[in-house]
Amino acid sequence: DLRPERKPEWLKIRLNAREKFQEVAHMVDDLSLNTVCQEARCPNIWECFSNRTATFMLMGDICTRHCGFCAVSKGAPRPLDPDEPGHVAEAVRKLELRHAVITSVNRDELPDGGAQHFAATIRAVRRLNPGCRVEVLIPDFCGNWDALATVMDARPDVLNHNTETVKALYKRVRPDAVYARSMELLQRAAAYRSSDYPVLTKSGVMLGLGETRDELLETMRDLRAHDCDILTLGQYLRPSLRHLPVEKFYHPDEFAELKQIGLAMGFKHVEAGPLVRSSYHAHEQVAEVDAP
Ligand code: SF4
Ligand code: SF4
Repeated sequence: DLRPERKPEWLKIRLNAREKFQEVAHMVDDLSLNTVCQEARCPNIWECFSNRTATFMLMGDICTRHCGFCAVSKGAPRPLDPDEPGHVAEAVRKLELRHAVITSVNRDELPDGGAQHFAATIRAVRRLNPGCRVEVLIPDFCGNWDALATVMDARPDVLNHNTETVKALYKRVRPDAVYARSMELLQRAAAYRSSDYPVLTKSGVMLGLGETRDELLETMRDLRAHDCDILTLGQYLRPSLRHLPVEKFYHPDEFAELKQIGLAMGFKHVEAGPLVRSSYHAHEQVAEVDAP
């Protein structure tokens, strides 16, 4: 079925964010920034930028993996840019960010998956922006735990790795990923927590790809069993007709209910809603956990 799904009302309202988007685009245009917020034309851009939160994508815009929900180009990536960590740090300074999210495409062809580049960027951002929280949203590094250690040694405030979907849908949605490996990564990251390094772990799941309620609850329980602190739940939206179709639009009330279930399971924070993206309200998520 190649007809685009009809979007329910609660997803339409925000689509006239275009004007706001132009305003932000204007603001950052001459900074030659490369934010996911702009490239993905994220509907939350105005709110996030006003809250001094933005997401940067490292290591180019070509990915070595083939996730069925993702609009990023696939193919042979270009060499890493050694100046990139410094440029991101500078951008964080110019935007006066309080919470910088740093993510990347998958670079499975690199021996460390780009872990050193992540670490260098965290350190560069810190050096130039002592007051800014740094959250990294990392790939699974193909289960290379030395690569994870390289990232953790740079001490990000939040270690985020998205589960994306339930176990049963991995083959279709994330064909190059392994559910158990993503869970293990989160648990290993949480194990770095100590009194002088209170790192938080975080993961996100997209809803509407065909998961059942039981499968979703199982995934949420698995995340808690692997010490995941923060959970984000958002509606999957199909980037184009070449991508996986939306099987279900969840009602805002369903998101609200899932949030309560998640909190009862012991997540320190759950961000759930139709337009929630991994980095949406990232600053507030951590602030709430920090508060006594
Ligand atoms: Fe950027 Fe994430 Fe906010 Fe979207 S939700 S504007 S990608 S920080
Ligand atoms: Fe997209 Fe990330 Fe999957 Fe690459 S690994 S295709 S960037 S979701």
